[in-house]
Amino acid sequence: MNLNILVLPGDGIGTEVTAEAVRVLRRVAEKWNHTPHLTEGLLGGVAIHKTGSPMPDETARLAREADATLLGAVGLPEFDNEPPERRPEKGLLGIRKTLGVFANLRPVRAYQALVDSSPLKNHLVEGTDMIIVRELTGGIYYGTPRGISGAGAEERAVNSMVYTRPEIERVARMAFRLAQGRRRKLTSVDKSNVLENSQLWRRVVVEVAAEFPDVELDHLLVDNCAMQLILNPRRFDVVVTENMFGDILSDEGAVLAGSIGMLPSASIGERKPSGAFVGLYEPVHGSAPDIAGQNKANPLAAIGSVAAMLEYSFGLHEEAAAVNRAVETVLNSGRVTADLKPAGTPATTEQVGAAVCEAL
Ligand code: NAD
Repeated sequence: MNLNILVLPGDGIGTEVTAEAVRVLRRVAEKWNHTPHLTEGLLGGVAIHKTGSPMPDETARLAREADATLLGAVGLPEFDNEPPERRPEKGLLGIRKTLGVFANLRPVRAYQALVDSSPLKNHLVEGTDMIIVRELTGGIYYGTPRGISGAGAEERAVNSMVYTRPEIERVARMAFRLAQGRRRKLTSVDKSNVLENSQLWRRVVVEVAAEFPDVELDHLLVDNCAMQLILNPRRFDVVVTENMFGDILSDEGAVLAGSIGMLPSASIGERKPSGAFVGLYEPVHGSAPDIAGQNKANPLAAIGSVAAMLEYSFGLHEEAAAVNRAVETVLNSGRVTADLKPAGTPATTEQVGAAVCEAL
């Protein structure tokens, strides 16, 4: 298979962890006979330095041409006091918009070797393996009318939670398809006891469910879901929810896994003529200026993002599973970076990348 991938290393540890992710990608291509076509582009602080813009037009062009984009992280302290359009983070919004991605996928896995770093008791977190699918383009963050008006006792603020039927249908279909490739269980999260918006959400999800009779669907109210994530995280396989609920629940899910250096993410859009799904893959963490350039950063979130890319954009399930298994082998071996608090001398970023390739 041709793997047309744009790599945007970005800033800080973004460049270091992306180098290891690319190394793993090349190893996968070699082992399973795929042809990687990797191009590299500029995003974030490095793009401002070289072009004056955090999201140059050339990067947008390359992203539209690629089947999938692998991003490191953006952000440099020197831009902290700049206006929004001169900040590296502006590049993130730009690339997401260019690609038209509408669903954010956050896999949450409790690796056996890391259960002690989870804030939950071991017996609760062990075996957790879920994906939280957050709708990215609609809901209260974008709905109108919005704004603050009036003054004094008359001052009021309005935000609108707006969803259209097609927006709900497309993210629901994506979540059902994901569940079909896993344990065939989908939990839709809403607040339909209070919000009309959630009533439409639930009605449309139930209608879409008719297309996926092999997937078991259940519904949870968002407050109950927040509780169940802590009480019984193993009950979840795929969770689908609207933008704001997903924003909050995915961060709650994130802490179950232990370290921020372990968390991949995927943002997915429509299918391309090549058959691949448009996708933006990135670790959840930022550019970590405090450890940048020291070969200390944990590359496993970036490597996990490669696994997600193989699976969701290219449908290469065997390769994706092999990368995830290799990550687990490395975790069990104890050759891990300092953030995972190994018993002996911490491994470097490069050593962890090499160990994953070796395990593959
Ligand atoms: P951060 O995620 O960069 O770092 C938070 C802490 O976690 C730091 O102590 C860091 O050393 C540690 N850490 C993060 N990733 C790690 C890894 N892979 N291995 C080991 N330790 C790791 O968040 P921050 O410090 O709040 O932000 C730094 C910069 O990154 C800011 O400019 C911010 O805007 C940007 N940022 C970018 C993204 C992104 O590109 N998606 C996300 C968050 C923050």
